[in-house]
Amino acid sequence: MKLKSKDIIFFSIVILIGIFLLVLPEVAMARPGGGHSYSGGGSSGGGGGGDLIGIIIYLIIYLLPPYISIPLIIILIIGYNIYQKKNKNSGNQIVSKPTYAVQAQSVANIAQQTHGLKNVDANFSRILFLDFVSSVFIKFQAYKYSPKDLKTIHPFFDQSIINTFASKPSDLRINEIVVGGINILQILQTGSAIQITVEINANYTQTTGGKSTRYIVTEKWLLERKAGVLSPTPDKMHKLSCPACGAPANFNDAGNCAHCGTLITPGNMQWFVRNRAIVYSDTIKTNSLTSYAPEVGTNYPTVYSPTVQSENHQFAARHNTDWDSYWSVFYHNIAAKYFTDIYDNWSMLTWNNVRHLLTDRLWESYNFWIDEYKRHGYRNVLEDTQILKMHLAKIETDKFYEAITVRIFASTKDYVVNKEGKVIGGTNKAARVFSEYWTFIRRSGVENDQYDMKSCPNCGAPLDKMGQNGVCEYCGAKVSTGEFSWVLAVITQDEEYKG
Ligand SMILES: [Zn+2]
Ligand SMILES: [Zn+2]
Repeated sequence: MKLKSKDIIFFSIVILIGIFLLVLPEVAMARPGGGHSYSGGGSSGGGGGGDLIGIIIYLIIYLLPPYISIPLIIILIIGYNIYQKKNKNSGNQIVSKPTYAVQAQSVANIAQQTHGLKNVDANFSRILFLDFVSSVFIKFQAYKYSPKDLKTIHPFFDQSIINTFASKPSDLRINEIVVGGINILQILQTGSAIQITVEINANYTQTTGGKSTRYIVTEKWLLERKAGVLSPTPDKMHKLSCPACGAPANFNDAGNCAHCGTLITPGNMQWFVRNRAIVYSDTIKTNSLTSYAPEVGTNYPTVYSPTVQSENHQFAARHNTDWDSYWSVFYHNIAAKYFTDIYDNWSMLTWNNVRHLLTDRLWESYNFWIDEYKRHGYRNVLEDTQILKMHLAKIETDKFYEAITVRIFASTKDYVVNKEGKVIGGTNKAARVFSEYWTFIRRSGVENDQYDMKSCPNCGAPLDKMGQNGVCEYCGAKVSTGEFSWVLAVITQDEEYKG
């Protein structure tokens, strides 16, 4: 691209405006799951300036030729550092929250890598893969200090991981394991193998000598599987099971399935954990229920899938409609209704009322916090909640599932009250504006889009017999896997969304 002098002036102004914006004070906001300090494993606060710099550098790199962009970036970084030095006493710390540029790049990379994987494994489904990782994680945590139990699932791990724990049995026990979220960070095809790196956010209770402590952890796992293999079918991915026969995982020392006898070599038919690292670990403090961290990311540009414009039309064509019509249905009948119903019931601590609207993992992870609020006699009130707008961020489909991710912008008065109704966190004086990415999933081939929010999506019976496992006792169907309707699978904070 040829650059005229007026363009250079234009971009210089953009950069100057950027630097000017850096000196504006940061606006603090909060919200359940997002604003509270329990939402993620990382630190919170600050970061507004760093985010803007990221966006500006991103624009410079993509819009300008190198002989202009490189000197500009150097000048920008020097200027930014001078600004930082001048303000180092202001207490405004820059933390390593991902910038929009990092998010956008990550979304593009993962989309491309997932596409590459589906080309060689037509059965690969991100949803089923994450279910599998979640199952392995929960079993691993429950068994890791009990070598005898850990051995029964050893074909899902590198021998070195099993050995680490086998050599030091302990009276520690881990239970009440809740997986909050799992992100795919990278998919790598090495030729002979496929490797997927994931980041897992979870919390659990560790007990020793009658003393229990609740931990919040982030672990990074590297999973690996032989190349040239198809992923097992959904029945073998939802639960931890023998990849040959589907029976519950139970293997002898050699690795033979107790049910069918097949020798399961790690990585031959199913993913195994080659490596794991604990990235973050801390105890959960009571004040995490009532303290609010500054809201970050609401003003970030929406991170779209690079191919969202074709994804939506392909989706509509598969359902014999056009995208505009479907978007209207999805917006009003699904996303907006679910959003309102889910947050109303969060606010009223009536979490069982929305059991049928969420996947097992998401419902359980929020249910843990509902129980915590109840235990302390607290309630996180969300009042005057309004949806402001919604962006379609991504549609991902595979052989077994369809997933739609929308970014929902909303405002709400967000505060915590105690038993006496006294506000002990947040404020009921002003509404806060926030945005979140919500990912809904549904089994391929399901067409139902007209939901009665108050009844079983399979048999239409009332919800009074909807079990905590997502099984309707009237019809016996498990509704939380998206077999009959859309279910909400993931809520991601805007500053953490990576596709
Ligand atoms: Zn078997
Ligand atoms: Zn039913």
